[in-house]
Amino acid sequence: MIDISGLGKSFGALEVLRDIDQQVATGEVVCVIGPSGSGKSTLLRCVNLLEEPTAGSITVDGVELTDPDTDIDTVRRRIGMVFQQFNLFSHLSVLSNLTVAQRKVLRRGKAEAESIARENLHRVGLADKADAMPPQLSGGQQQRAGIARALSMNPDVMLFDEPTSALDPELVGDVLAVMRGLAEEGMTMLVVTHEMQFAREVADRVLFMDGGGIVEQGPPAEVIGAPREERTRSFLARVL
Ligand code: ATP
Ligand code: MG
Repeated sequence: MIDISGLGKSFGALEVLRDIDQQVATGEVVCVIGPSGSGKSTLLRCVNLLEEPTAGSITVDGVELTDPDTDIDTVRRRIGMVFQQFNLFSHLSVLSNLTVAQRKVLRRGKAEAESIARENLHRVGLADKADAMPPQLSGGQQQRAGIARALSMNPDVMLFDEPTSALDPELVGDVLAVMRGLAEEGMTMLVVTHEMQFAREVADRVLFMDGGGIVEQGPPAEVIGAPREERTRSFLARVL
C-alpha cells in the first residue's frame, strides 16, 4: 500500500529524515512514536507531499508520489489526514465542512455528498450535529468531525498526526474509540501518537523514531513492552 524507500528530508542544512525504508500493508495499523523533533510529523507530511522529500521515493498503491509526472492531487485524494488542530471552517456548518471537498474535488452532487457526510457523522457518533457550527462543538467532537470529513473522501489510507494531543483528557477516549473502530474495519492507518495504551492495543506495528531515523520497530509488545534499544527505553521511561 505505502512503500517508502531511502526517504530523506532536509530543510537547508538541517537533516530531518534520513534513509527511511518502510512498507505499510493494506489494512495495517502502524503507530509512530518518538521524542519531539524526531521527524514524525515530517514523515507523515512527506507521505501526502505536504513536504517534498529531498531523497528517496514514496509509492502509494503503485503510484510513485515523487515522480514529477504523477498528478499529486489524484494521489492525495486517496489519503486522508487528521491533524492535531481540527482545521474545520468555523463559518460553515458541520455538514458543509464535510461536503465542500467532496463537491469541489470529487465533483459529487449535493444530495450524494450530504448523504455520505451524514453516514460518516453517524460513524463517528455525531449524527445529531450535522447542523451545528464547529465552535459549538467540544474539541473531541470537532476532531471526530475532522475524521468524518476525511472519511467522506473515501480514502485508502488515513494519516493521523497526534489527533488527541490538543484535547482535554476526558475527550481523548471518544476520538481513540473512533480510530479503533476504523482499525477494526480494516483501514490502513499511519498514526503519530503519544497514547501508548492505544498503540499497544491497536497497532500492528510500532516505529520508534529518534534523530530523523527509525531506531526500532516491531509489534507493540516488543517495542513498547520490551524495547531492545537504549534510546527507546529512555523515551518510554519518560512517557509511560
Ligand atoms: P513533535 O513531537 O514535537 O511534533 P516531530 O517528531 O513531529 O515533533 P517534526 O515536526 O517532524 O518533529 O520536526 C523535525 C525537525 O524538523 C525539527 O527539528 C523541526 O524544527 C524541523 N522542521 C520541521 N518543519 C520544518 C520547516 N518547515 N522548516 C524548517 N525546519 C523544520
Ligand atoms: Mg509532530
